[in-house]
Amino acid sequence: MDLGLKGKTAVITGASVGIGLAVAEGLAAEGSNLVLAARGGERLEAEAARIAEKYGVSAAAIVADVATVAGTEAIIAAAAEKGGADILINNAGTGSNETVMEAPDEKWQAYWELHVMAAVRLARGIAPQMKGRGGGVILHNASICAVQPLWYEPIYNVSKSALMMFSKTLSTELIKDNIRVNCVNAGLILTPDWIKTAKQLTAETGGNWEGYLQGVANEHAASKRFGTPEELANVFVFLSSERASYCIGSTYFVDGGMLKTI
Ligand code: NDP
Repeated sequence: MDLGLKGKTAVITGASVGIGLAVAEGLAAEGSNLVLAARGGERLEAEAARIAEKYGVSAAAIVADVATVAGTEAIIAAAAEKGGADILINNAGTGSNETVMEAPDEKWQAYWELHVMAAVRLARGIAPQMKGRGGGVILHNASICAVQPLWYEPIYNVSKSALMMFSKTLSTELIKDNIRVNCVNAGLILTPDWIKTAKQLTAETGGNWEGYLQGVANEHAASKRFGTPEELANVFVFLSSERASYCIGSTYFVDGGMLKTI
C-alpha cells in the first residue's frame, strides 16, 4: 500500500530513542524527510545520520528542550528552513512517580510544560506552515494513562489527559485548514527505558529483569506481552498518511488489550 508519504517533511519530538525513534524510522522508510528533536545531542545526531543514510532521506537533528519556549522556537524555525512541515508528531514525554499530597507545584508545572505547552506552542508555530502547504497532520502521543490511570503517577495521568483533550480541541479548530489532528494512547511499549528500569529493580534479587517485565505484562495487558515501538509506530505512520483521511479528532488505543472499558 503506497501511503503517499514520500517527500513529506515530518517533525518528531523525542526522536532519539524508543517510540519517537521508531516513528522517525517508520516515516523515513516511507520516504519522508525528518526534523528530529531531543535534548541530548550526541544520540540524536547519531540516529539522524544513521536514518538519513539508511533510507536516503534528509534528517535534521535539533537539540532542543520542548518544555521551553526557546526549544519549541528552535524546532519551528528548523521546520521553516525546510520549507515547512507536513507532519508533526508530539511524542516527547516521560513518566512520573509521586503522590498528590507530596508533589510540589513546580513538578506539576514542569509536566504541564512538557506534555501540554510543548504541543500548544508547536501547533501555533507549525500549523501555519502546514496551512501554507495545503494541509497536514498533527499527532499526539498521550498514553492509556490519560483515561486509565496508574496509581503511582498522578501528574503523568493528569497531564496526558490534558494532552488528549488538547488534541480533540485543536482538531476542531484546524480541520478547516485541512490539518487532521489525532491522539494515540499506547499501553505497554517495550522501550530501552523499561528494560533499564527492570534491570535496576531486579539487580539485588537475582537479576531476572525479563521475568519482571513479563509480570508487568501479565498484570496489565490481556495479550500478556509488551508491544514493540515498531508496532506502535505503524499506527503513527498510517495516521500520518492520506490513507487515514477520515480520521479526525479521535484517540486511538494501541494497548494489547490493556484498556478495561469499551
Ligand atoms: P523514552 O524515554 O524512551 O524517550 C523519550 C524521548 O523524548 C527521548 O528521545 C528523549 O531524549 C526525549 N525527551 C524527553 N524529554 C524531552 C524534552 N524536555 N525535550 C525534548 N525531548 C525530550 O520514552 P518512550 O519512547 O517510552 O515514550 C515516548 C512517549 O510515549 C512519551 O510521551 C511517553 O509518555 C509515551 N508513552 C510511552 C509508553 C511506554 O510504555 N513506553 C506507553 C504510553 C505512552 P532526551 O532525553 O535526550 O531529551
